[in-house]
Order: sequence, then structure tokens, then C-alpha cells
Amino acid sequence: MATIGFIGIGNMGGPMVCNLVRAGHAVKAFDLSADALNFAVQAGAQAAGTAAQAATAVEFVVTMLPVGANVREVYLQGGVLAAASPSTVVVDSSTIDVETSQAVHRAAADAGLAMLDAPVSGGTMGAEAGTLTFMCGGGDATFKAARTILADMGKNIVHCGGPGMGQATKICNNMVVGVAMLALSEAFVMGERLGLDRQTLFDVLSTSTADSWALRNMCPASGPVPTAPSARDYQPGFAAALMLKDLRLAQSAAQMAGTSTPLGATAAATFALHVGNGNGALDTSSIIKLIQGKG
Ligand code: NAD
Repeated sequence: MATIGFIGIGNMGGPMVCNLVRAGHAVKAFDLSADALNFAVQAGAQAAGTAAQAATAVEFVVTMLPVGANVREVYLQGGVLAAASPSTVVVDSSTIDVETSQAVHRAAADAGLAMLDAPVSGGTMGAEAGTLTFMCGGGDATFKAARTILADMGKNIVHCGGPGMGQATKICNNMVVGVAMLALSEAFVMGERLGLDRQTLFDVLSTSTADSWALRNMCPASGPVPTAPSARDYQPGFAAALMLKDLRLAQSAAQMAGTSTPLGATAAATFALHVGNGNGALDTSSIIKLIQGKG
């Protein structure tokens, strides 16, 4: 069993820590929020006083932070790279921009540390069930080493390429989910206004060519999926503000790659309106409120 420093115990990091402890690993946890840290301690982790302390004398460091600026702060200013020993493998599972990820990879290499970017898909339900997909970017040996602990938090652990390629994969994935959530919202609002029964529409879409993971797990119209955020007043889940962040990451990646992404651009603009209306803390599927005119 491994010793692991875990930094960022939020909606995703919390259940991921639970699974690592359950698998028998010794976890040293750190979060800026006392409540979040307390959650990790209740789960059986040891509390660290700073990010650097969590990264000291451990075999692995895992970070699960909101945005690229947090990742730079924790690794570069927060002293994680300086505190880790040369045998430590650092794994950043946050969803961030490719550029920041590659900059932190370079800084880790300069410090003599092996690093993997390993953002995830599967949402909080996947984090709780230990069935996340990890999209990994980094060297072969680092991937093989990190895989041993990632397997205790996820089901599909995929090596997507070199540094930053996990992030590139994740950004493509989330651009599709953002577009899908918007399309589903339009379909449910339009369908009901045409006189369709919500459950009937769900039953047909989920068994025909419009079927998707977003529909079956996060249906934006409440009722058909009792476990979806729409059944609990759109409490996240995956916050709309984080989806907006990912859609903006996709837009800047599209510019870098010289690719036109008209649907991604529309989704980014629509989520910006929704978040601007004060809905950033609600689940992504709450975008249906904007289409309903209740935003
Ligand atoms: P969250 O906001 O719930 O949790 C982030 C945690 O990081 C918070 O507890 C916060 O206090 C902590 N934090 C922030 N800055 C810190 C710092 N400098 N030092 C220590 N702790 C710090 O976010 P989340 O939903 O857990 O998402 C984390 C990442 O995972 C994001 O990049 C998100 O895009 C990605 N993601 C989320 C989901 C989801 O369904 N929630 C799914 C896939 C990927």
C-alpha cells in the first residue's frame, strides 16, 4: 500500500480520498477549507497543515483543484515540487488548460520529478463509485507507476500521450457534454411546449439515436432520472461555473489548434449567460432554466 498526499478535497477529491483510504493507502490530505479537510479526516486520512506538508515523504501526490491558477499556486508557489522527494510521482487530476499543465510538467521535470496530468470523467457519482475514467498525459514509466493508485479510484485508466495530452482529451470530452446538455435542454423544453409528456420523451430519446450518457445520468428535465441533479434542485454534481471554465478552455484550445468549433462556441456563450445570471453554483444541467426563460 502506498503513502499519498492529496490536495483539494472538494466534490470530487472528497470521494476519491475515501476510495484511497478504503483501498488501504495512507493518505495525508490538505485543503484550504477546514470543512473539506475535516471530511477527509472523517474518512480516515491524516490532516496536513499545508500543501507542502502533504507532499513531504510520500510516494504519490494527487491534486484535485478547480482551475489552472490553483494548480500553479500549489505546485510552484505552494512548494509541492520543492517538498516532494525525487522518487515521488505527482499526479494532477484537475481539469485545466493544456498550457498550464505543460508548464507544471516542465517545472516538475526541472525538479527531477515524474509527473502525470490525469483529469477525470464520470462526475461525483463516478468518484463515489470508484469508476472514474482517468485520461493521462506523461511518460510510460510514470503512467505505469501512477496506474497502481489510479485503479483504486477509477475503472478506465487511459494513457492518452505525452505531457498535457490528458487535458487535451478531457477538454474534447467536456465540450461534447456541454453541447449535449444544451441540446437536451432545448429538446425537453420544446417537446413539452409541443404537448409531449416528459417521461415519454425521455423513454424514446434514451432508446433511440438521441441516447447519451448526459441524458441517462444528468437529464436536465426533472423526473425521469431520480438520481440526477435535476431531482434535487440542481445541486451539483458538476457546477455550471466549472462547465463554463471547461468550455472556455476548449475555445482557447480550438484557437491554438486552428479549429473551428461553432457548437462549442455557442455552448460557451450560453453557459456564460447562465453563470452571469447567478447560476454558477448549480449543476450543469440547470442550463435548462435559461431555455425555459427562468434563468
Ligand atoms: P470543488 O470546488 O468542489 O473542490 C475543489 C477543492 O479545492 C475545494 O475544496 C477548495 O477548497 C480546494 N482548493 C482550492 N484551492 C486550493 C489550494 N490552493 N490549496 C488547497 N486546496 C485548494 O471542485 P470539484 O468539483 O471537486 O472539481 C475539481 C476539479 O475536477 C475541477 O478542475 C473540475 O473541473 C474537475 N472535475 C469535476 C467534476 C465534477 O463532477 N465535479 C467532474 C470531472 C472533473
